[in-house]
Amino acid sequence: MRYLILGSGPAGIAAAKAARKLDKDAEVILATEEHAAPYLRPLLPDLVSGERELSGVADPQGKDLAESGVKLLGGKRARRVDAAKNRVTFSDGSEETYNFLCVATGGRPILPLALMGAPGSFLFLNSLGDAQRVRERAMRSDTTVVYGPGYLGIEAARAVRRLGNEVIWINPGLPRFGNPISGEIEARITDQLRARGVKIHEGTEIADAVDVDGRNFEVVTAGGGTILCHLIVVATERLPNVVFLEGSGVKVGAGILVDEYLRTNVSNIFAAGDCAEVYDINRRESRINFGWRSAIKQGQLAGENMAGGGKVYIKNSEDYFGLLYGAPLLERAGA
Ligand SMILES: Cc1cc2nc3c(=O)[nH]c(=O)nc-3n(C[C@H](O)[C@H](O)[C@H](O)COP(=O)(O)OP(=O)(O)OC[C@H]3O[C@@H](n4cnc5c(N)ncnc54)[C@H](O)[C@@H]3O)c2cc1C
Repeated sequence: MRYLILGSGPAGIAAAKAARKLDKDAEVILATEEHAAPYLRPLLPDLVSGERELSGVADPQGKDLAESGVKLLGGKRARRVDAAKNRVTFSDGSEETYNFLCVATGGRPILPLALMGAPGSFLFLNSLGDAQRVRERAMRSDTTVVYGPGYLGIEAARAVRRLGNEVIWINPGLPRFGNPISGEIEARITDQLRARGVKIHEGTEIADAVDVDGRNFEVVTAGGGTILCHLIVVATERLPNVVFLEGSGVKVGAGILVDEYLRTNVSNIFAAGDCAEVYDINRRESRINFGWRSAIKQGQLAGENMAGGGKVYIKNSEDYFGLLYGAPLLERAGA
């Protein structure tokens, strides 16, 4: 049996290990676009702020892959899935076949349209490379605008502020996906950020960003205000990475549509983590996950079910949609 898993985040690693644990003679391939060894995405803001070094963000789950019988292939970005031939083609032209496929490709932040006209003005905060770039650039900047709702916006603002920048956080409002933070907690966190010197523009959008002289950028808000800054950090919600499934026959809504066993409409293809739109039998609706520990739960379930586990289904929704990694946000914002 050959299991192919796409993506080396927590869902992909957990799926690979779980499949191999149940099917000890199986060949398990974990193919990912990343060149870096697996890392803890929730700790990227700490890498930006300098509270952690590179070695401190390594994902312990990813350290024993070879010993667990999982072959990790880095630098492999899936471009196409041929479900009829059980084959994935990667951007370097190489191919991998499978008996079972698990897609665990996570998400990518949404880029606001207004920033498309000023490509040098912004950086994302999503991957290890992004965090290294944000840190390097913020260290050469005095003023940074952070754009993004909820959790990710708060974390990005906190990290860049700790680095000593003047920070203006543009918070457009509630995130469309994931679990929104409750109003009361968000208000307390916002107060803490303000007390640390972060300026907050609530409920507005970036209308435009204009390159002034190659180093300074003018951000225009929807209300007509302007902010002069050196850097814009885009910390928006992550949309599922699913483009490569076009033409595969796998059904996709906002994310990859899976049932409560995490199986797609194609019987030997599963999906887990932030790329999956999972049917929650308790709420009777499909939901996209946000959260590291929930991604691990989903990955484990998909891995077990690929290997014939078949009887597990989501009983406790919170395990699969709400388990976060790390210290509570309120503690972090106040630290
Ligand atoms: C800055 C930041 C801070 C966060 N903080 C927290 C936190 O404090 N607590 C918490 O619980 N959660 C946090 N999250 C959310 C958490 O990181 C995610 O919920 C979790 O990583 C989802 O895991 P995943 O395995 O589904 O996807 P990901 O971790 O996104 O992994 C997907 C993997 O697939 C790879 N990939 C993508 N496309 C392809 C392709 N076409 N071919 C091959 N490989 C591909 C990606 O490079 C990546 O390695 C944070 C996220 C960010 C960005």
